Amino acid sequence: MADYYETLGVSRDASGEEIKKAYRKLARKLHPDVAGPDGAEQFKAVNEAYDVLSNEEQRRLYDMGGTDALGGGAGAGFSPFQDIFETFFGGMGGTGRGPVPRGRRGQDALVNIDLDLADVVFGTTKTLSPTLAVECPTCHGNCAAPGTEPITCNECQGSGTVQRVTNSILGRMVSQTPCPTCHGHGTVIVTPCGECSGEGRVRATKKVSVAIPAGVENGMRIRLAGQGDAGIEGGPAGDLFAEVHIHPHPIFQRHGNDLLGELQIPMTSAALGTHVEIETLDGMRSLEIPAGTNSGFVLTLSGLGAGRLNRPGRGDLKISIAVQTPTKLDEEQRELLRQLALLRGEEQQTPTLTEQGSSFFSKLRDKFTK
Ligand SMILES: [Zn+2]
Ligand SMILES: [Zn+2]
Repeated sequence: MADYYETLGVSRDASGEEIKKAYRKLARKLHPDVAGPDGAEQFKAVNEAYDVLSNEEQRRLYDMGGTDALGGGAGAGFSPFQDIFETFFGGMGGTGRGPVPRGRRGQDALVNIDLDLADVVFGTTKTLSPTLAVECPTCHGNCAAPGTEPITCNECQGSGTVQRVTNSILGRMVSQTPCPTCHGHGTVIVTPCGECSGEGRVRATKKVSVAIPAGVENGMRIRLAGQGDAGIEGGPAGDLFAEVHIHPHPIFQRHGNDLLGELQIPMTSAALGTHVEIETLDGMRSLEIPAGTNSGFVLTLSGLGAGRLNRPGRGDLKISIAVQTPTKLDEEQRELLRQLALLRGEEQQTPTLTEQGSSFFSKLRDKFTK
């Protein structure tokens, strides 16, 4: 993937203003009217880079390395030429370039997508049912009633422009302006489609399939190019963004690519060591608890964490041990513990505060920060 900062020739901490400036300079130099077709590839790359870096949210995702997975590449479905023409000419028409095609780009749309922890650990495919503007099923976006077609405009003979002659002190001035009858399109729709009232689109609920890459984080937006609102009068569709909302898991907590869990074991098992079967998101796994395990001890099951976004491999599953001190002892149990304490000479021991840097202390502190 191209480095967008390099493409625009700005540093990674460039401000929005610097990015805009760099883009304008390059766009002027590489514009097809100036550079000809030779600059087209680079022109496209510059537009793609600007499209991402000028948008705060997208820039953030790109900096996190996320944009590539999010919607199959930034700028997919984006038409830089239309945008740049609008940037430079302030909309179409009046430039003497002949009829202007109908159609304006549809709006981008945003939907929430609810996911479980397993969805983002492994990645999955979900089906969304957003209600959006979709292409009119009757006229398919051409806006004319069935059986009719847009007809050539009488006033401009289909050229989309009309000549206006004015007399001034300098003599006769001839200027070209967009045709007022067809608004520069060169054609007129005499009988608009009844279903969409000539807009070329209607509102409907549609099914959209979205690939969730493993490793996405809460709040990330997955871009589905061209899946937003259908364009007006047959124009290109906007993009659809699916914002990720991950439900908390009852057992495991996510920390970056790692999953964290806690296992409670009886004091006796902690002292003697034991073997435990636990249910992970990958199924049952066995854990060997060594004899003499303390509370806060962390067992790592490597590769059982969340998938990495755009990268191979998975994080780890970290199980921290919580030793249960027995409560509700009966007289016999109390006596046994007293005897144990006596045998170990622990009755006379004075507990002291733990020194920093001792292994137990570090493990406890690092438990949820690693
Ligand atoms: Zn229609
Ligand atoms: Zn006309």
